[in-house]
Amino acid sequence: MEHIASDRIAWEPAPEEHFTGSAWFGPLAPPATPESLNTLGVMFAPGARTAWHRHVEGQVLYVAYGAGVVANDQGGRVEVSAGDTVVIPAGEVHWHGATPSTFMMHLSLTTGGPTEWMGEEVDDADYLGG
Ligand code: MN
Repeated sequence: MEHIASDRIAWEPAPEEHFTGSAWFGPLAPPATPESLNTLGVMFAPGARTAWHRHVEGQVLYVAYGAGVVANDQGGRVEVSAGDTVVIPAGEVHWHGATPSTFMMHLSLTTGGPTEWMGEEVDDADYLGG
């Protein structure tokens, strides 16, 4: 087995071109091959969220801390909190982030398929919903 202690996780600021607000991510374990499981931790400050994107092979999100929102471009929107899981189908255009007043950390589980960014940030109207 390999124990990866928390101080070995290479947290880095999430790139501004793909995120609104302050977010950090860190790979939790190195994938053995390009096709294998990618385990990524993502921390969002209040108000922070991804830009619109999709995952060619889908994504599983597990909320480890705090509360947030996951929404797609078909009007689907869920409020999530620690302990929740969200399964995002392959190719579904969506975003995820913290609520305006809480931090959120989730685990992102994806296989080797790439993330495709739609080139559009989540504006405040979409972020706040309604
Ligand atoms: Mn995603």
